[in-house]
Amino acid sequence: MIDFVVVGGGFAGVSATAYLASHGSVVLLEMESSLAYHTSGRSAAMLVENYGSAGSRPLVRLARSFLSDPPKGAVDAPLLSERAVMWVADQNGLEDLEQKATMGRANGADNELIGRDEVLARMPAMRSDWVAGGLFEPSGADIDVAALHQAFVRIARGHGANLVTNSPVSSIARHGSKWLVEGGGRTWETSAVVNAAGAWGDVIAEMAGVQPIGLQPYRRTAFMVPGSVESAHWPMVVETHENWYLRPDGVQFLCSLAEEVPSEPTDPRPRMEDVALAIERINAATSLGIRSVNSQWTGLRTFAPDRDLVIGEDPTAPGFHWLVGLGGIGVQTSPAYGSLLASLAVGAPLSDSMSHAGVDPERTSPARFR
Ligand SMILES: Cc1cc2nc3c(=O)[nH]c(=O)nc-3n(C[C@H](O)[C@H](O)[C@H](O)COP(=O)(O)OP(=O)(O)OC[C@H]3O[C@@H](n4cnc5c(N)ncnc54)[C@H](O)[C@@H]3O)c2cc1C
Repeated sequence: MIDFVVVGGGFAGVSATAYLASHGSVVLLEMESSLAYHTSGRSAAMLVENYGSAGSRPLVRLARSFLSDPPKGAVDAPLLSERAVMWVADQNGLEDLEQKATMGRANGADNELIGRDEVLARMPAMRSDWVAGGLFEPSGADIDVAALHQAFVRIARGHGANLVTNSPVSSIARHGSKWLVEGGGRTWETSAVVNAAGAWGDVIAEMAGVQPIGLQPYRRTAFMVPGSVESAHWPMVVETHENWYLRPDGVQFLCSLAEEVPSEPTDPRPRMEDVALAIERINAATSLGIRSVNSQWTGLRTFAPDRDLVIGEDPTAPGFHWLVGLGGIGVQTSPAYGSLLASLAVGAPLSDSMSHAGVDPERTSPARFR
């Protein structure tokens, strides 16, 4: 008998496992041959404070303390490196920039509206005949995503958790007050299932006879193009309506059209037209003159119908816990949602740091869909 069976080995699954493992026995089942094969291995690796749903904002604040000062032994080098974020707009986007500034400040994010000259000083490749203004946010950061994922794995294993790959969960059945989970060639008996299956979250719910949430995965493609030593320290630059973004990554830029195209849960591949349109827009707004692409990939950002996170036990299915709907913020909030999920699952009071950060479990509870 296992205390918790976690389905999925992306950020949601490993973070939940890391925090649950100090409360009982945990088995994590991942269908692929490696953890983080899907969306978690395909992100832009950024921490952007002024971003995401209302329910996620306190979680970003809470996550920062783990990210800046991870538990001893969990990492070998810092997880964060400074990377300011600069939202930019042409004439049509200035109003949107102001709204973003207000929203960010209301949530405690430091930011400053800046004029064209300052945008150009911070990002010399912006076209002066395109850009009309910017919003500068010094609190952004690059996240070492591989090291962060590994940190959760180390913590989980340190507490004795069993993380098993090549183990697709093929059936989940309720058996009195227990659940029987088939995966990895055997049946696991457990009192609690954690659904951390990302784009497959509703598939797992249906398998367990639990009403789906209405999760919708959306494709988003990112690609790398040549940069330079000089550009390595420029901020991440995001068009204010999210029509494109770019972030220096060593001597390359990571770029994206920031598209949201509905998809089935699947292993998506980049479409040439999305990359081409992103290049066209970035070349119109900058003097980068992008002509070649070094590499490209596509991931699925999965949202609940109200676009907020879904964390906690389903009121209609005791012992079935959701950790899904992480959309575009599932890396930067990972230490916070794992910790919240574990507190809720074991019935522990919220920690002082969660309360201080303004975490409201009602806001992200699956009960809002029931
Ligand atoms: C282009 C792009 C850029 C992004 N940039 C950022 C960023 O800068 N910052 C940020 O915070 N977030 C970013 N994100 C979002 C972030 O990557 C996601 O929110 C996060 O990775 C979601 O993690 P997850 O664990 O829910 O999903 P996943 O990583 O998809 O994990 C779900 C896992 O469940 C497994 N699974 C499914 N069904 C089964 C089954 N039956 N049995 C066993 N296992 C199963 C899958 O194989 C998968 O490994 C970005 C996403 C994309 C696509």
